[in-house]
Amino acid sequence: MTDLTALTLAEARDALKAKDFTAVELTEAYIAAVEAARSLNAFIVETPDIARDMAKASDEKLAKGQGGALEGIPLGIKDLFATKGVHTQACSHILDGFKPPYESTVTANLWADGAVMLGKLNMDEFAMGSSNETSYYGPVTNPWRRKGSNANLVPGGSSGGSAAAVAARLCLGATATDTGGSIRQPAAFTGTAGIKPTYGRCSRWGVVAFASSLDQAGPIARDMRDTAILLKSMASVDPKDTTSVDLPVPDYESAIGKSVKGLKIGIPREYRLDGMPAEIDALWQKGIDILRDAGAEIVDISLPHTKYALPAYYIVAPAEASSNLARYDGVRYGLRENGSDIIDLYENSRAKGFGAEVKRRILIGTYVLSAGYYDAYYLRAQKVRTLIKRDFELAYAAGVDAILTPATPSAAFGIGEKADADPVEMYLNDVFTVTVNMAGLPGLSVPAGLSAEGLPLGLQLIGRPFGEETLFSVGSAIEQAVGKFSPDKWW
Ligand code: GLN
Repeated sequence: MTDLTALTLAEARDALKAKDFTAVELTEAYIAAVEAARSLNAFIVETPDIARDMAKASDEKLAKGQGGALEGIPLGIKDLFATKGVHTQACSHILDGFKPPYESTVTANLWADGAVMLGKLNMDEFAMGSSNETSYYGPVTNPWRRKGSNANLVPGGSSGGSAAAVAARLCLGATATDTGGSIRQPAAFTGTAGIKPTYGRCSRWGVVAFASSLDQAGPIARDMRDTAILLKSMASVDPKDTTSVDLPVPDYESAIGKSVKGLKIGIPREYRLDGMPAEIDALWQKGIDILRDAGAEIVDISLPHTKYALPAYYIVAPAEASSNLARYDGVRYGLRENGSDIIDLYENSRAKGFGAEVKRRILIGTYVLSAGYYDAYYLRAQKVRTLIKRDFELAYAAGVDAILTPATPSAAFGIGEKADADPVEMYLNDVFTVTVNMAGLPGLSVPAGLSAEGLPLGLQLIGRPFGEETLFSVGSAIEQAVGKFSPDKWW
């Protein structure tokens, strides 16, 4: 039999339906792949017994010609998603031992469609980071290496485990979340595809909160089609999340390969940064040429408030985080450090339980929300956010269907290379992606080429609210032109 882990999700789905192999066989192949790749540190918890039970149940359905859209498909789950009875710690020490008595809506949707859980994936602590180096469980190693080098690189973050696991073929797809770029940046760093849907497309219920007005769940997968298939299953309106939106979930897969002829693609001049590496610029130009050749109309646009997005994000996101993370007090769940009185217990638990980056965010957030600084920082950042959103609205009102930008300002960097430097160095990774969260829009990352060093690079497509189908069509046009990229196996 050919290596089952070489198939895409769509191929595996069709082969399962055709009974070419069983869900148990497919699952066993993935369990073995996960075990053989422990050196990457992508999975922090493996759940082979659960996977086998789910696969058996899938086989029974498939044998009767039944089963959901993901029947028998093995997936990895970011540790930010609550999974009933299974380790859920947002890769933080403060949630030590937490096994939620409930399931997140997104993962419940996946299981209802027949997917199989392989385990929980590594991530930056509470999804704060761009390199997966803030995880309590240690960094994830990118399956990609520079040509002729065996230096270990980061997979990006915060969904670094998700991206690395998909790139290394340890699962057919993974759940991820994106508050400022955490789906799109790791996808770009690993040659995988990812989409942050419109705010409200997926329920946030049961997803550990970072910055609630920015957080969205979405998939990371091997290609555009697999990403589209997963998003359809993940998305839903949910009475348990009042910010989820009651719109029918389209069949995203049917948007794959649809002509982009006549679509208007905006190229925002503000994304051409000073000092941007020449190969990022060249990649962007390549994307423009591909879409023009495919019949799209390329138009220059201006999003004038772009330069304020990163500073405003680093006020809004920490502000919301400081309030969301106030619940971790050492009393209700997770780690408890004793103290001489209750305040002492809170302080000791939080001091021990949170890592340095999370503490930095809490301090920033508490500061910008404090009585004396609220107007100067938080309120102003919210106003800037409105202006950023309006920039996009004006572009779309002028007829733009989607916006093309680079996904990241560089390829993957070395483990330790940026983590110890000025934190702003790390924050700059998200310069092209945070605008999209600030505006609540959908953003897709599609692999578009390799750097001179042989590392994957991604392009970003930004859509209108609920314009995911257009993004899948345009993304698949790029994918068709450039092909797909996988790392050579060394682990
Ligand atoms: N890197 C950004 C941050 O650290 C975004 C993270 C995310 O999208 N979760 O806040």
